[in-house]
Amino acid sequence: MRVGSIALPGGRAGLSPGPATVYDAGLAQGRGHGVASDSTGMIETDVAVIGAGPVGLFAVFECGMLRMRCVVIDALDALGGQCAALYPEKPIYDIPAHPAIEGAALVARLEAQAAPFAPHYLLGQRVETLVADGDGWRLSTSGGATVRARAVIIAAGAGAFGPNRPPLAGIEGYEASGGVRYLVTRREEFRGKRVVIAGGGDSAVDWALSLKDIAAKVVVVHRRPKFRAAPETAAQLEAAAARGEIELAIPYQLHGLAGADGRLSGVELATLKGETRLVEADHLLAFFGLSMELGPIADWSLGLDKHHIAVTPATLETNLPGVYAIGDIATYPGKLKLILQGFSEAAMAAHAIHPRIFPGEALHFEYSTTKGVPGAS
Ligand SMILES: Cc1cc2nc3c(=O)[nH]c(=O)nc-3n(C[C@H](O)[C@H](O)[C@H](O)COP(=O)(O)OP(=O)(O)OC[C@H]3O[C@@H](n4cnc5c(N)ncnc54)[C@H](O)[C@@H]3O)c2cc1C
Repeated sequence: MRVGSIALPGGRAGLSPGPATVYDAGLAQGRGHGVASDSTGMIETDVAVIGAGPVGLFAVFECGMLRMRCVVIDALDALGGQCAALYPEKPIYDIPAHPAIEGAALVARLEAQAAPFAPHYLLGQRVETLVADGDGWRLSTSGGATVRARAVIIAAGAGAFGPNRPPLAGIEGYEASGGVRYLVTRREEFRGKRVVIAGGGDSAVDWALSLKDIAAKVVVVHRRPKFRAAPETAAQLEAAAARGEIELAIPYQLHGLAGADGRLSGVELATLKGETRLVEADHLLAFFGLSMELGPIADWSLGLDKHHIAVTPATLETNLPGVYAIGDIATYPGKLKLILQGFSEAAMAAHAIHPRIFPGEALHFEYSTTKGVPGAS
């Protein structure tokens, strides 16, 4: 199972590169796969897709429908990008034809939709370099793989992302034991537990409201009385606090961690004046947002606009010929950072790439209802 089962090394689900893995959907299904290897071990493909988030996965489908083979590389050790790593159990309401679908379920369906095209997945490895190579591009990964592709689709979302970690002494040991976490992958793990939640945004408020029904105790720590979360949920939090279902520790901030042998027993809080108190806790959930870094992508001579890659809207091509950017990482006037917009960009990029892979061959636009899914039984 590739989705929704992200390992939690140090309680940091899929947020740092895991051990490099290769997953070939084509081999798994006993079909020809989407790559060829030369004697040096270099992987040759039509299109290299950087990022296995929802948009990168759908790009495999769109490329496949146009007979283009894909290798997909992701720094995380599971498919699904933000949907799988950050909100696998949260329903998404604005995916067309799905009134509600959880993040992990959406990823599982995208993986299944791409499977007939036998993508070759290189997971747990970050693409470090992108250099021109003849009529294509050569990519090298932190896992030691080299991929040569005629075109590249960068679907790298926010780039390499990770949580903003509070500067607390000894926090690494509690991260390793799961005492301190930055995201929730399985709500049930908190049943009967004493949970301190730090932060004032949507994640902190949403999880406080969700966990109050199963946790032994939920304490929300925030520096100021006003929450940045959606007004409706912030009001629900205050109502739950008034009913005694949640304790609000305001105005406090995190000051220290108590416990032994990596096992968390309490969280020390302090006011801005330095008054401290200890709250007994089995878990600290710190929701201070994500640090988004382009990582190596920033060094690839791409035209950037405020940490995003500027593209030509009609083709999604970047300033580098044959290199395209789609999904959250791409920007142009009117861009909406929504999964559904990324899906549309994937289709447009695939059509723009087709003449590079099949020069001189006319592309006759066809509906999927007309041609079916090539290769699918
Ligand atoms: C809590 C939350 C709720 C959301 N709710 C909604 C919603 O209701 N509706 C909606 O439309 N959107 C929602 N979003 C936004 C949505 O998740 C994003 O728009 C979507 O994930 C973007 O998909 P993507 O494939 O472009 O990028 P991502 O999902 O960010 O995936 C990018 C992938 O690229 C990988 N990567 C980055 N750099 C490299 C590199 N150098 N080498 C290898 N791999 C790399 C990353 O590891 C990551 O897996 C939500 C986001 C959050 C955080």
